[in-house]
Amino acid sequence: MIISLPEKFPIGTLKKQENNQAFIENGILKIGRDCKFSNIMYGLTYMMKGDRICYYCGKTISKKEMTLDHVYPRDFGGPSITDNLVPCCQECNNDKNNFTHQQYKEILLARQNGTAKQLKEEFYRQHEELRKKKMYSLPEHWIEEVKLSEIQILYLDSFNYKATKKYKDSKKFYNMYEMLRRPIVVDRKNNILDEFILYLFAKDKKLDKVPTIKLENVQIR
Ligand SMILES: [Zn+2]
Repeated sequence: MIISLPEKFPIGTLKKQENNQAFIENGILKIGRDCKFSNIMYGLTYMMKGDRICYYCGKTISKKEMTLDHVYPRDFGGPSITDNLVPCCQECNNDKNNFTHQQYKEILLARQNGTAKQLKEEFYRQHEELRKKKMYSLPEHWIEEVKLSEIQILYLDSFNYKATKKYKDSKKFYNMYEMLRRPIVVDRKNNILDEFILYLFAKDKKLDKVPTIKLENVQIR
């Protein structure tokens, strides 16, 4: 998929291209190997969507109080990319919880006639139904199946990843649904950008193909 990017980033001129810097060149977001991908996505989201007004309630709040919400929730596959993030206040973020933006809008309406509780249960049932079909609560065109052997991991220091909570959660989830918790996020050359632990889990599990979100306008440099 092509993710939303500002026309220019960073604003002003980049003096030195170091490994902890990212910039846009000819419409491609080029990310230094020492950058944390999610932090870049957070920064770009604030830059494009504002950092003072809550997307849901419209309230003006301070930068310090601002949070970022995943439009399609993390628990149901939502990636940390600009198209899936909106600035919002802590209150709305907590209230929206594990629902998609569309579901949340319907819940807010249902509150007016006292049927929000039933609707929430129905939405959870729908999320579960999708999982049973090995699908995510995400737009289908975001996801593609890629051979695990074609995915590359650059610059990973060795560490005991099997002891991490993420790895244990990935395993638990897989045992329950026989699918990865989330798609793996890769750049245009299939280099991993996000979900390293999930990738390592898939490798240990010797999976042939994995669901990925391939960002055609992003590249690790
Ligand atoms: Zn709000």
